[in-house]
Amino acid sequence: MTGLLCRALGPHALKPDGPLVVIPGGLQVRFVCMRCHTIRRERWDTRGRYAGGRRYFHDKTYKGILEEYDRLGARAAWVSGAEKVHAPAAKGQGDESNAQGLRLVQGGKKRRGGAVRAHKRAGTQARRRA
Ligand SMILES: [Zn+2]
Repeated sequence: MTGLLCRALGPHALKPDGPLVVIPGGLQVRFVCMRCHTIRRERWDTRGRYAGGRRYFHDKTYKGILEEYDRLGARAAWVSGAEKVHAPAAKGQGDESNAQGLRLVQGGKKRRGGAVRAHKRAGTQARRRA
């Protein structure tokens, strides 16, 4: 049910649908959702600024989704039906040396100047003792 994702996430996955139509005072633009086929139509000025008149046209399936689910309900329904995989197990779990390596990776960028690091570590230990 592809429209479920639109309801769950909020914005539709819009793409332009046809050429821009020149109307008095600007343009009429039309988009279609690649997931649920909802059509959005609105007016823009000639520089592309929104000028009002936004309307949505939902197909029957998406109307049903709107009636059946609020955003959270759509998320729950999508989660229950979505394909799932397990994350790969971290290497060396329980191994002290590798566990320390993991902490270093989580620290982010490599730092220059080991003395500064040693100083910071000492400061951390001092605070812990206090
Ligand atoms: Zn959509």
